[in-house]
Amino acid sequence: MEDCLFCKIAAGDIPSKKLYEDEQVVAFYDIAPQAKVHFLVIPKKHIPSAAALTEEDGALLGHVFAVIAKLAKEQGLDNGYRVISNVGEDAGQTVKHLHFHVLGGEKLPV
Ligand code: IMP
Repeated sequence: MEDCLFCKIAAGDIPSKKLYEDEQVVAFYDIAPQAKVHFLVIPKKHIPSAAALTEEDGALLGHVFAVIAKLAKEQGLDNGYRVISNVGEDAGQTVKHLHFHVLGGEKLPV
């Protein structure tokens, strides 16, 4: 999708600190980390938010969470981590492309 920051990052048109990439997803470090470890996992497919997911995205979502678990392990987040996806304005979603924040590396505020 034109004019979508994360589509441009997924395509490599805007640089990012990528941790992982395959045919379906990209993971990169958040530009403004909110924890010692903070990266984002996104589908390459443009989906505006979790509110736009359908049953057909089930396999893609399963893959996203498998990648999250693999990367969390690689990052040494053995003591736990948080996965967040903000949906819409009230939740503070600023980029309208589905993304999962993965936060950890320290005790997170409850
Ligand atoms: P949201 O507020 O849940 O939509 O999360 C968007 C996230 O994207 C924020 O945590 C931003 O810091 C992050 N972000 C914005 N632009 C970039 C970028 O160019 N590279 C990496 N992360 C970004």
